[in-house]
Amino acid sequence: MRILLTHGSALLYGLSPLFRIPAYYCQNPDCKHEIISKEAPHACPKCGGKVVQDEDTLDTWFSSALWPFSTLGWTGEEGEEIAEDFKYFYPTSVLVTAYDIIFFWVARMIFSGIEHTGKLPFKDVFIHGLMRDEQGRKMSKSLGNGIDPLEIIEKYGTDALRLTIVSGNSPGNDINWSETKLTASRNFANKLWNASRYILMNLPEGFKAGALPKELTIEDKWLLTRFNNLAKEVTDNIDSYELGVAVQKIRDFIWEIYCDWYIELTKPRISEGGEKALNAQKVLVYVMQGMLKLLHPFMPFITEEIWQSIDSNAKSIMISEWVKYDESLSFVKQEQEFSKVVELIRAIRVQRNELNVPVSKKVSLFIETDDKDIYNQCAIFFEKLAGISSISFVDGSIEDAEKMAAVVATGARAFIPLGELVDKEKELARLEKELEKAKKDVEFSRSKLNNPNFISKAPKAQVEKEQKKLEIALERLKNIKKSQENYK
Ligand SMILES: [Zn+2]
Repeated sequence: MRILLTHGSALLYGLSPLFRIPAYYCQNPDCKHEIISKEAPHACPKCGGKVVQDEDTLDTWFSSALWPFSTLGWTGEEGEEIAEDFKYFYPTSVLVTAYDIIFFWVARMIFSGIEHTGKLPFKDVFIHGLMRDEQGRKMSKSLGNGIDPLEIIEKYGTDALRLTIVSGNSPGNDINWSETKLTASRNFANKLWNASRYILMNLPEGFKAGALPKELTIEDKWLLTRFNNLAKEVTDNIDSYELGVAVQKIRDFIWEIYCDWYIELTKPRISEGGEKALNAQKVLVYVMQGMLKLLHPFMPFITEEIWQSIDSNAKSIMISEWVKYDESLSFVKQEQEFSKVVELIRAIRVQRNELNVPVSKKVSLFIETDDKDIYNQCAIFFEKLAGISSISFVDGSIEDAEKMAAVVATGARAFIPLGELVDKEKELARLEKELEKAKKDVEFSRSKLNNPNFISKAPKAQVEKEQKKLEIALERLKNIKKSQENYK
């Protein structure tokens, strides 16, 4: 009799991975009947004699232990040929598993490998945490708190599920299941997909992917340098199994640097057309291809799909060459300079947002800086991305500083006239209303305080209260008039 179960199938049948073999032997020497049964028989069904259960215990993990070599077609049988796959792939490089079965499975694979093949089955063991439920409990059949991956894949996509599991994952630490994280992963997939659609839609006919233009602008150099650094860091992270860190860096780069900034930065050139547009498109596609490679281990399906649609003759992204750090694509000076521009634009946008100024409203900008050239060169980006109509440079102190909204960033201080930021007519109308109300309050208090009856009959505290009210109203009147002056 031979029973072979993996621990997985044993669990599936509701058996413990360690169980006593369910074979029973009739003790009647004339019968010796053997019975295999889930339920223990009370007596021999053939002769009614006494039965005894087999004393051996089956440890199903021992069959699981064959996994590293039996899956490669290994044959340890005498006179048989060792399989080709086994010769090529064994010993393997990495085993990935959760920590809860280190002894049960990992240890058995190691000593079985040594025993049967004379070699360790793998070089590294990457031990990750468990996926727990939202409350941090272990997922189990009895609690009924398990997640069916197929249902999740149906709803969010395979790549979104993979990304969610890898994100925030650090070796050995458990993570809790979160539907919110899953939604964020799906949104990221949509963002990447839409970016690729936008880029591919605008490419000219016969566009050849993969090459960079001869002439690179400052924003191209900024992007390429950042991407070059990303490739280096992500490769290092993956090599040291910091998968959660690696994927977070790729995600941030794609979302913020590439989609939110660089795509927007190329729009003026692309709408201009010709050589300039083509150059921008070459950089867009070059970096897109690199990003797809870095993301591929984490989101295999969407990256392959976009990869093939960029270049229909390309072979699978799986067998493409991994991105390498390239010294010739490192433009440290330009990267630092352009980062200052990005920082200032971002600060202006925050300021406008705080003041509720619509994006459509154009305003002028005064910059105090030692790097006039860079900001001048990038005026188009201030116009397109920060709603700036003109840039002027100021040396030393700026006039009428109190009428300006100030924005501070590395390398520059910038000022925007408040009168331009807010809608002048609307603001003046609002101030006029406030002024009328303040005038009425002043009048009311004054008439009360000028009334001899009130002064003589009202309690002292009430009179003082009215005087205080008048003071406040007068102060407000003064401030409103000052604000009105600012718009003139
Ligand atoms: Zn019997």
